[in-house]
Formats: sequence, structure tokens, C-alpha cells
Amino acid sequence: MRSQRPFLIEALTAIGLIAAPFILPYLDFTPTTMSRIMVWGLFGIGFDILFGFTGLLSFGQSAFYGTGGMVAAYLLTIVGFKYVVISVIIGMIVAAFVGYLIGLIALRRTGIYFAMITVAIAEVFYFVEFNPLSEYTGGENGLPGVPTPTLSFGSHVIHLNTDWTLYGFFAFWYLVGITIALRIVRSPVGVIFSAIRDNPLRAAAVGHNIHGYKLTAFVIAAAYAGFAGGLLGVLQGFMPPEAFTFDTSGQLVIQTAIGGAGTLFGPLLGATVWLYLSDFFQNTFHLGASWKLVLGVIFVLLVCFLRRGLVGGIKDLYELIVRPRAAEIASREVAPAASLGAAGARSGTVDETRAAPMPSRARETDGFSGPILEAIGLTKHYDGLVANADINFSVRSGELRGIIGPNGAGKTTFFRMLTCEVPPTSGKIVFEGHDITGKSVTDVCQLGLTKSYQVNQLFTRLTVRQNLTISALAERRGKFRLDLMRRLSKIPGLTEQVEHTLELINLAARADVPVSALAYGEKRRLEIGLALASSPSLLLLDEPLAGMSPSERVETVKLLKSIARGRTMVVIDHDMDSLFNLVERITVLQEGRVLVEGTPEQIKGNAAVQEAYLGGVVAA
Ligand code: ATP
Repeated sequence: MRSQRPFLIEALTAIGLIAAPFILPYLDFTPTTMSRIMVWGLFGIGFDILFGFTGLLSFGQSAFYGTGGMVAAYLLTIVGFKYVVISVIIGMIVAAFVGYLIGLIALRRTGIYFAMITVAIAEVFYFVEFNPLSEYTGGENGLPGVPTPTLSFGSHVIHLNTDWTLYGFFAFWYLVGITIALRIVRSPVGVIFSAIRDNPLRAAAVGHNIHGYKLTAFVIAAAYAGFAGGLLGVLQGFMPPEAFTFDTSGQLVIQTAIGGAGTLFGPLLGATVWLYLSDFFQNTFHLGASWKLVLGVIFVLLVCFLRRGLVGGIKDLYELIVRPRAAEIASREVAPAASLGAAGARSGTVDETRAAPMPSRARETDGFSGPILEAIGLTKHYDGLVANADINFSVRSGELRGIIGPNGAGKTTFFRMLTCEVPPTSGKIVFEGHDITGKSVTDVCQLGLTKSYQVNQLFTRLTVRQNLTISALAERRGKFRLDLMRRLSKIPGLTEQVEHTLELINLAARADVPVSALAYGEKRRLEIGLALASSPSLLLLDEPLAGMSPSERVETVKLLKSIARGRTMVVIDHDMDSLFNLVERITVLQEGRVLVEGTPEQIKGNAAVQEAYLGGVVAA
């Protein structure tokens, strides 16, 4: 996501596209095959943003490919419009609009149901193209006579009608497409796409409107498909009805898997392998229709042994050979200077006084001076089971409150209702004077109330810094904004907020490490950091010490104390000693009800608590 040399990849792509005609013909690539690779590559960029980056597997991209292509071809042949590129762009806009409408329906479901809806919708498009709209689309004959483009320089006109000039035309548009896509995936929206792929529930809980972003990815994919469909008509001189078939969507998925999803270049590489092998098996080996059988076997082998596709394999090789050497050199340079300062960081020691307190977000509270949070008669039933019953609970601003209770007492359910993850069966939640009952978890986080989870909910394929960036972005940009071309570095205060959180949770030395490589204690600290990076004014922590070693607990309690400065916090935990040492007041839950509330001293000496929670052990 962060790029040291912003246009390096774009420049290398341009060089590759210019060099290809001088190299690939020696490997028996024809100019037409190379042009087809460009069209498939462009089609695949959008699909990769949808699938590889956002995690939405669609088998219906042919609907938009066909739509864009048919609209452009219709304008150029039946209407007689003579501007090729403008027609292709109009086709793209129509495909994007259709994608928006389809996305509104398909994105109501996730996973396999989403994929099945896309298949069904593509089938509907195929039927419509062949029957009701055949007058406009040519039915099974398609639309012949799509012209090649021309370039006009005053009175001088260049016809792009030879194989190589057409390759240049398609390569140019591929370069434009990849440049825009690289910009998108590096933008705040691109980062949020990856968050949705990794953990959609947490992406929503840190304050992002994930439905809006999923729809955005869907429309982008439809736009790329529509544009590529328009180019297909130009390439072949006619718009084939096969563009609408399930085969087209399937081939796109396979090519992306071969090349590597989530890489942007994967579909291009996948198309190169696919088209080259299909030509090779059919023309050299004369395999006829059985070439697909051989390709199928190759596909299975590739997916089994290169799970991240060819681009993923190349990246892994690069990491293996180049990165360790770079890291070795860097560590040699850094070691003398860092040897003193890093000692604390490596041991995971939290210096309570070092990091300044993380500011809560400034918000218009209309001069409200009552409790920051109030739960009134909060009740939750799961069928016959009463998880929470008539809970009345109030926290004043700046307070550090603890909640304890035996397993199954209803503590987590209570937190889930407060953050509006689950709706209460009855009762009311008032935050900063506003009734928030029935709001979404995203809206409540945007208001400044969020929680860390009992079981880590991290963005596991991303680094520590990227995790915190996702959370901080929700506070900086609001729940939805289409800043697709903006750089992360251009968002005021974002870097500072992320760096500050890194310092506070003592993970600055591990900022660029993927979450999967963190130790358990570090993951727990990051879990707290995710909640913290959205600068909440009320932070709920669900068992932050769960699963930690005694020394990690001591460090985490120090961390919680430093976080608590200037903030209201409610902490659930089973570790009595740590909690009594941390909080000012404690609420005890038992069987879904408030048993008692008081200072740690009062709770320690309360016979009902000892009986209910400690089973009389302490009393004894
Ligand atoms: P622990 O300390 O073990 O985390 P807890 O005090 O947080 O427990 P909850 O997780 O809130 O307790 O659960 C309270 C009760 O509600 C339990 O009996 C639990 O089985 C039940 N419960 C919680 N979530 C659901 C659900 N989604 N569906 C049905 N029952 C649920």
C-alpha cells in the first residue's frame, strides 16, 4: 500500500508493453494473440479489484463485458456513430450503471449466495441478448462491422487497422487501466477493500460502510468489464454474442487464479498462459477440442502448487532471495544506533509515561453534561434463553469501569448490545444524550463508541500499520467517501494518528510485520489498538487480558492505564487482581442481571459477590 517509488510499477509496465512486440513473436505469439491478452488483462483488472482485493467472487462478469461491448458495437454499427473510443466509453458507462443496479441486488447476500446470484443474473443477460433484444444485439450472429479506430491530428488521420497498430491501441488502454487501478488500490478506498476481504465484520465495526464500498468495487469491476467488452468488438471487427456466456466468466476466474488474485497483473499473466497454451495445443499439437482437458490439468496443478498464482509465486521468490539480503544490510546499519532504544520494544515493555494519551475525538455534544452512556432496562432473549434481563447501567464521562461476572453471566452480550452489534429485545441505550438503540455498529463507532473483542478480530493478511490505518481512516474520512484517486499520505493527521497508536500499544518496532507473524500477546495489543485508532470517546474492552501470560498481563494493564487518560473506558475481565488494580468502579453481572455495583474495595468485601461469582472461595 505504501510505495517508495510511486510510478515505478507503471513505468515498468509501459516498458514491458513496448518491449513485448520485439520479444514475444519469437515465442510464437501473434499480434492478434497479444491484443487479446490486453483485452482479457483489462477485463481482469476490474475482476481482480472485486475478487482479489475485496473478496467478492463473481461468476457473472460476462454480463457487463457483453453489455459494454454490445452498446459500443450498436453505436458504431447500427447508429453509425464514428468515434470508436467515445463509443467504448459510453459502453463502459452503461455497463457500470447496470453493475450498480445488479450490485444493489446481488450484494444483499455474501459468499456462495452472492456468487450464485451473479451466475443467475449473467444467465438472464445471456437470454435477453439472444431473445428480446436480438434486434439490437444481432442475436446469435452478434453485431458485425465494428470499425477500427482512427487518430486525427488536424487534417492528418492515422487508421489503426494493422495488427501492430491495433496492439499499440490496446496496450495503451491497458496501461491507462492499470495506472488507474494501481491508484485505486493504493487509495483509502483500496485499503478498505482489503479490510472487507479480510474481515468484513470488523471493517464495519471500526466505522466503514462496507455495503457502500462493496458496491463501489462491483461498479468498478463492471466498468472495466464494459470497457474491455467494447475493445473486444474493435479487436474482432464484430461483437460476438459469446461475450455473454458463462464460459467467458469462468475463463476470467481461471485466468485470474492462474496469474494470481489480488495482484492486478495476475489476470494479464493468466491470460498470457491460457491463450498461449490454447494456441500451442491446438496449432502445434492439433489436439482439437481436447486442448481444454490438458489446460484443465495444468490449471489444477498450478492452483495446487502455486496457491497465490504465478505473480504470487514470483513475489515469494523475490522475498526469499532479495528481501533477506536487504534486511540483513538494514539491520547492520541500524543495529548500533538502535541497540539501546530497542531493548524495551523487543521485550514488549510498555512505558506508561512515554506515549502521550491518545486524544478522544472532538464532537459536538450540545453542551450535554449527563452520563456518557446509559442503558435503561436492557434485555436480550435468544429464543427461550435470557442472556440479559432489565439491565440499568450508567457510566459518567472520564470513568474507568470494570464489569465482572461468572462465565455465561451475559457480559459479552451486554457489550454487543451497547455497540449495536445485536439489537436488544427491549430497553434503550443512550450515548452522550442521544438514543442510539437500533443504530448500526458502523454509525455507533462513528459517534465515538467502539469495543475490542474477546476473540481477536484482526485483518490477518495485512500488516500492523495497515490494520491501524483502516481503523484511523474511518475516523478521518467518515463512514463512506469515494476518494479513489487520493493518496493515503495526503489525508491530514492519518500518519500521526497511526504512529501514535503504534507507540501507545508498543508495536512501533513491528509496524510492517504481517499480523500472521505476531505473537499472541502482540495480537491482543493490536486488537486494543484497532479500537483505539478510531479515537473513541467511550471504549469498551472485552477481556483484553484473555489468554495472556502473567508478565503480558502486567504490561497490558499498564497499557490500559495509559490509554484511559482522558477517556471513558469499560473493561470486562476475569482477572480480578488486574481489574481491581485498574478500575474505579465495578459492576457485577450474574445470570444476565446486575447483582451489585461499587468500588473495588466494596466488591471485594461483598458477600453476595463472593457467593455468586467466587463460589464462596474468597469468603472461606
Ligand atoms: P464469558 O465470560 O464466558 O465470555 P459472558 O458473560 O460473556 O460469558 P455471554 O457470552 O454474553 O456471557 O452469554 C450469555 C448467555 O447467552 C450464554 O448462555 C450464551 O450461551 C448465550 N448466548 C450468547 N450469544 C448467543 C447467541 N448468539 N445465540 C444464542 N445464545 C447466545
